[in-house]
Amino acid sequence: MDYSIIVVGDELLIGQVTDTNSGWIARNLRPYGWKTKSVKVVSDDAKEIEKAIDEAFDQTDVVLMTGGLGPTKDDITKSTLCEYFGGEMVLDEATLLNVEEVLNKRGLTMNDLNHNQAMVPSSCRVIQNRVGTAPLMWFEKDDKVLVSMPGVPFETETMMAEAVIPQLVEHFMNDKYIEYRTFVVIDYSESVLALTLADFESRLPEFVKLAYLPKPGVIRLRLSAIGDDEAEIKAAMDDLEKSLYEILGKNIIANEDKTPSEILGGLLLKHNMTLATAESCTGGNVAHTITQVAGSSAYFVGSVVSYCNGVKKNLLGVPEKVLNTEGAVSEPTVRQMSLGVSSLLGTDCAVATSGIAGPGGAVPGKPVGTVWMSAKCGDRLVTECRRFPGSRDRVIERATTHVTLMLIKLLLGE
Ligand code: ATP
Ligand code: MG
Repeated sequence: MDYSIIVVGDELLIGQVTDTNSGWIARNLRPYGWKTKSVKVVSDDAKEIEKAIDEAFDQTDVVLMTGGLGPTKDDITKSTLCEYFGGEMVLDEATLLNVEEVLNKRGLTMNDLNHNQAMVPSSCRVIQNRVGTAPLMWFEKDDKVLVSMPGVPFETETMMAEAVIPQLVEHFMNDKYIEYRTFVVIDYSESVLALTLADFESRLPEFVKLAYLPKPGVIRLRLSAIGDDEAEIKAAMDDLEKSLYEILGKNIIANEDKTPSEILGGLLLKHNMTLATAESCTGGNVAHTITQVAGSSAYFVGSVVSYCNGVKKNLLGVPEKVLNTEGAVSEPTVRQMSLGVSSLLGTDCAVATSGIAGPGGAVPGKPVGTVWMSAKCGDRLVTECRRFPGSRDRVIERATTHVTLMLIKLLLGE
């Protein structure tokens, strides 16, 4: 299958920014046997964009477009696409929620411009942008498909890998056998993982592609295979899965696309164990994340949000002396918090957090982002201190994921 690429942006035409999106798209679609017929760079101008789409559709049935969706000028590209494919601009509630969530994660609040990003042409199907505020849009007309994506390379690359490529494959290769296998990997940075898997990757059969899909605290590895022979593909995937486990061992915590709290829930159910949380800086976020998993009542008992020292002392049994000498953000504090909540609520397992989420609150030797965490499983208990970068929300999110992973590792018998 051939496709055309259109990259939109005045900055690309004046040489202020170099187009990297078209190269990434071409490299990542090539393993599927798809070829770029043309790449066109156009300015942020309705007429130019329309002309480019006409020309592209003359040559190919698929057009991949990036850029021009930022909050400042989004009316041009989106209204141009709306005009081109018909329909009207409508508010998409799911997009509005997504924009709000993405901004929240960045510690920002919604303004009018962001609100506008949730307006989309009624003629498109929205693909939510997990890592940015500009929604991706999938248009179809007379057997032709145009996908409009944000210009920010990280967003386009992440969302192409996670959503657009699998959807293109499904749409255009439905006569083929397709199989995906996803593995959740911990304790690796993306670059070190890529180096570790360089040899594995170079030996992949031609019909198999490996994608790296990072999320805070974990990297998901996705193998996708496409072909005519289901048995051959299954056998090849079984071999590759075995090799991956040989290389990465216990760093693979799941062989399906699950969140850390889903993985934790599965393990607790398997071992028939219960869980409580004692949270200071995460303010109940660990409990919130755990209870987002349907069926968590089977293993989750409750939580003590011990935000002030009095609660750490009176409910969880942290000695006053420890609080006075070592401080609330310390190893002995989180150790006792996990022991205390586990005995208070009668659970097998417990996790605890105490840290400085910021922006204020730093003390000498304990900068913003410092978080002590503890995980207890039966009579085994581990503690760790980390310094997480970023805003308050980000520190809370990272600490939540990290302490969840600590307990997962204990349950996996490390
Ligand atoms: P608008 O164009 O609507 O004013 P914007 O330029 O902020 O908004 P995008 O066009 O989506 O939004 O681009 C976002 C960022 O990504 C910009 O910094 C832009 O320079 C960069 N960018 C856009 N297209 C590409 C590309 N093809 N290759 C590399 N970087 C790109
Ligand atoms: Mg732009």
